Amino acid sequence: MSAAPKIVETKLAERANLYEVALRQTHKAAKAINLSPEVATILSQPKNEIITNFPVKMDDGSTRLFKGYRVQHNNILGPYKGGLRYHEEASLDEVKALASWMTYKCALAEIPFGGAKGGIKFNPRLHSQSELQRITRRFTHALGANIGPEWDIPAPDVGTNAQTMVWLMDTYMNVVGMNDKNAVKHVVTGKTVTSGGSLGRESATGQGVVHCIIEWARDQGFRLDGCTFSVQGFGNVGSHTARILSKLGASLVAVGDYRGYISNPEGINAHKLLEHVQKTGSVAEYRGAKSITRDDFFHVEADVFVPAALELEIGVEEAKALRCKLVVEGANGPTLPEAEDVLLERGIHVIPDIMANSGGVVVSYYEWLQNKRSEQWEAEEVEDRLERRMKRTYEQVKTFAENRSVDWRVASYGLALERIARVYEERGIFP
Ligand code: NAD
Repeated sequence: MSAAPKIVETKLAERANLYEVALRQTHKAAKAINLSPEVATILSQPKNEIITNFPVKMDDGSTRLFKGYRVQHNNILGPYKGGLRYHEEASLDEVKALASWMTYKCALAEIPFGGAKGGIKFNPRLHSQSELQRITRRFTHALGANIGPEWDIPAPDVGTNAQTMVWLMDTYMNVVGMNDKNAVKHVVTGKTVTSGGSLGRESATGQGVVHCIIEWARDQGFRLDGCTFSVQGFGNVGSHTARILSKLGASLVAVGDYRGYISNPEGINAHKLLEHVQKTGSVAEYRGAKSITRDDFFHVEADVFVPAALELEIGVEEAKALRCKLVVEGANGPTLPEAEDVLLERGIHVIPDIMANSGGVVVSYYEWLQNKRSEQWEAEEVEDRLERRMKRTYEQVKTFAENRSVDWRVASYGLALERIARVYEERGIFP
């Protein structure tokens, strides 16, 4: 077990309730598109909320009880789909918000999945690999038939990774019976490639964020080569975004994570920084940049800002401080609605989460298809398909926003809600 790491206190002392934020965003879009009250009512709460308290043996022989969540928001478009988060602040309302965003994200990307999210309330950094394995396996067992390859399909999120997904898959495979064992690999996505994952899945969310930035730059006649950007969070989404954007000639000038923030106006090498993070677990103390405060970080001048850490990190003060042209939400729900108003008033364009970070679930869908068909697609095929889909979504959101004179978040939600509402209209309410 490692020592408790130092946590950077965020300024947003009074954190808003994430589910209320999600509802406010949905209501705004529902009003803009005149969503039927029946569909709005159905979507206002998840279909299923599962909470399980389960015991796990620790390395020192003691037993600890963990609280796990799985919230299934909606499955009108297909099986429930969404990540699993290991974080000490996981809560029912947080998971409910994240699950609802998955419903809208899948509808917007036109993939045949519904929305779900799950999590376990604990800090994974304080546990050994063997404890993490036992926690994951026991949680999978506790979920039982509440997950399944045609019912509810988890994926990685904050604090989990491809290894976590492989443990989950293996546990599930070993309880379904020998004959079905190899037919259920697609019970999770985001697995390692050796255990049935897709090429391109690990970098997919960051790659999707970069596709959005490329399209925006093309629209604005803005050159990415030589521009600057900053990233909050240097985990899966943040590090891949930084690495891919750097390849296009953009310069990473500030970055931060749970232990601290750093900057260098001359540019930070994303590859070297990633090596440092893999060794030390954080961007803090990286030698190619100077240490700054969280406050300084939000004042750094950079053309593009990518929040890729946790939700509700951009409050009104942060929105006033940011000196950028574009905010691309790699993280889910990083911007408070009041803060978004400030950004838009200041002429800063916002590409919302359900569009910007949808690359991950899009390639998860490709992984699911490959597993079902016992296929392994080449990296180029995955990349081409992802690029085409991200560009299509970008164009659809842009056109919707222009035609209806709404901001891009309303446009993204509006498109998603219209698609869901059409299906409810056709199918009606059972019985
Ligand atoms: P991760 O666990 O790999 O990385 C999270 C990063 O955020 C780490 O660098 C961590 O140090 C940093 N962080 C945590 N708390 C912080 C704090 N208080 N202040 C500053 N930094 C902090 O997680 P991830 O998978 O990269 O997910 C990041 C965000 O992207 C989340 O909102 C997640 O829901 C969203 N997302 C992830 C995926 C995916 O495929 N992994 C897909 C879509 C959306």
